[in-house]
Amino acid sequence: MNSNFLQTPITYLKNVGPNRAEVLQKELGIYLFKDLLQLFPNRYLDKTQYYTIDQLQNSGADVQVVGKIIHIKTVAQKRGKRLVATFGDGTGQMELVWFRGHKWIRENLKLNEPYIVFGRVSRYGNMLSMPHPEMELLAVHQKGLKIAMQPIYPSTEKLSARGITNKVLSQMIQQLFIDCKGQFPEVLSPKILEELKLISKSDALLNIHFPKNQELLAKAQFRLKFEELFFVQLQLISKIILRKKKIKGMPFTNVGNYFNTFFKKHLPFELTSAQKKVIKQIRNDLGSNAQMNRLLQGDVGSGKTIVALLCMLLAMDNGFQACLMAPTEILAQQHYIGLKELLGDLEVQIELLTGSTKKSKRKTIHEDLENGQLHILIGTHAILEDVVQFKNLGLAIIDEQHRFGVAQRSKLWHKNETPPHILVMTATPIPRTLAMSVYGDLDISVIDELPPGRKPVKTVHRFDSNRLQVFRFIKDEIKKGRQVYVVYPLIQESEALDYKDLMDGYESIVRDFPLPEYQISIVHGKMKPLDKDYEMQRFVRGETQIMVATTVIEVGVNVPNASVMIIESAERFGLSQLHQLRGRVGRGAEQSFCILMTGHKLSQDSKTRLETMVQTNDGFEIAEVDLKLRGPGDLMGTQQSGVLNLKIADIVKDNPILKTARYHVIQLLKEDPGLEKEINLPIRKAYQNVVQNKAIWNYIS
Ligand code: ADP
Ligand code: MG
Repeated sequence: MNSNFLQTPITYLKNVGPNRAEVLQKELGIYLFKDLLQLFPNRYLDKTQYYTIDQLQNSGADVQVVGKIIHIKTVAQKRGKRLVATFGDGTGQMELVWFRGHKWIRENLKLNEPYIVFGRVSRYGNMLSMPHPEMELLAVHQKGLKIAMQPIYPSTEKLSARGITNKVLSQMIQQLFIDCKGQFPEVLSPKILEELKLISKSDALLNIHFPKNQELLAKAQFRLKFEELFFVQLQLISKIILRKKKIKGMPFTNVGNYFNTFFKKHLPFELTSAQKKVIKQIRNDLGSNAQMNRLLQGDVGSGKTIVALLCMLLAMDNGFQACLMAPTEILAQQHYIGLKELLGDLEVQIELLTGSTKKSKRKTIHEDLENGQLHILIGTHAILEDVVQFKNLGLAIIDEQHRFGVAQRSKLWHKNETPPHILVMTATPIPRTLAMSVYGDLDISVIDELPPGRKPVKTVHRFDSNRLQVFRFIKDEIKKGRQVYVVYPLIQESEALDYKDLMDGYESIVRDFPLPEYQISIVHGKMKPLDKDYEMQRFVRGETQIMVATTVIEVGVNVPNASVMIIESAERFGLSQLHQLRGRVGRGAEQSFCILMTGHKLSQDSKTRLETMVQTNDGFEIAEVDLKLRGPGDLMGTQQSGVLNLKIADIVKDNPILKTARYHVIQLLKEDPGLEKEINLPIRKAYQNVVQNKAIWNYIS
């Protein structure tokens, strides 16, 4: 086969004229033969094969089984009922399930007569189940016409309106196979094919479009998913290697006075072993000749700040400046105050730069940055402005990554002639392999341990009707000297209503917690920054006992004396947000509580979220559930990274395949970094194609 065959414009295919080509481009993004080849069916109607129940797999394909109904029953469920028939064929049993049309089905189904049933099988626990099957008495079926196994392609209204039906698409693909005699170039090495027992590229393509049977379909799916993830990983890992080679870093070889003095005299606690491990990883990077670009993941309260500080001191020991950027003014300020306190009498010049920094102050900060008098700059986005120039910025730290995008990171790169080392800190735990794909150009460190002596926050779910009890509980806690957060949801779509809820809530709290015994703060987005700040500070100083707020307090605020977090309308928050909010308490020595308030009407997803929060404090576990509920689409960073452009693999469901692919890429690059060996030629060719055709990963440079 001519190697350019796949790059042929789609108009050259038989029966595809300019009109059809245009629709294919617009609706399905199909420009070339290869795009059509990669239009994978969503599902299959397999009417060539009969399966016995013991052969069925959880492949999502439709299958055909002959057997008898042994038993029918109606099962009550949350809403309505479902009709369940036990269906057996001598090799096993499965369930046929109906959610509608019970009466008609019950009246027409015959027990113990051979039926042919057709539908999609999925597994729930140990039981296979087929919802709303097509079914026919075997005797009737045998008289009718039989259809072959049929791929079902993604479709749109426009496609079918323009006559490009599923059948037409299938015929076009058949034509492709005929034109090239079903031969497609292999893109993996014989070694990998062998080790993983993968079927060839040609076989895989044939069986993804025209599966001979379930088993080959599963093999084709596995092979193509693996291949897709393999090349994504190959790009990512090659890029990391390239960056390390190409971009000269500024090696921090000294561990000097600042670091050592702080470590010996000012460190207020012993580091956890997770903190030590992470610092070691970072120091390794900083000490090497490469530029560091590292993501530091650590659950709320895991102690990322001290790690940041130690790194900044290391920068200073090597004659460099450092900056720490936070997403909100409040958080930047807390960092500034906290770090100043930690530094004590160490001679470190540290300043705060935010949107509300006064003009005159701003001017001296700019000057001192440029002449090198200022060692550490803490701030918000204000740091990114072009007027902010450093003498020699060696390290830039970004706290709470998800509020910043790739573009902003890239701005930091340009703050110095040689790009500074970059450390991105986030409290949003995402599963490691996923992180590797989403933040592909970052190395990853994880603080997977909380400082000792922390009491896990006790979390409960209460209904609005229990509010009096909850208020009583708050009063008891305040009597013990504790402070309380009450948080209301605020989203743009329903902003006006949300503010009303917040103000109503505030008023009812003011009524129940009257002056002078109780002092209450309120903070929300409509307030002026100065007022917000004033209220916040009153709470931080312990002058108010209750803080009523919208989610502005979500990120980073540290008030160790606060021991109760009440979240109103908790069902409206996402899991990671709930987890972040809960992280605001449990920072002191006292037992802390998180109370999730909701009405009685809850969706299944809301229930799962609330239950998850009640059951676990583990951020990674919560992240896994969140991912399952929402899919990767909402994950921060994914939109930018192109992870979602996958054609066949699913980054969540196929995570095990992703791991395998990653392992094999690492092995490959170890053995043959330049992909120069004969055996790896197919990989090299395919890789060059991928890289030439589109650089899906935005590269900061
Ligand atoms: P986060 O990772 O959420 O930014 P912080 O850095 O704010 O967490 O740390 C949370 C709290 O834990 C702070 O009060 C900090 O002083 C404390 N802390 C951090 N590391 C340790 C440690 N090794 N031992 C005891 N307390 C620690
Ligand atoms: Mg923090």
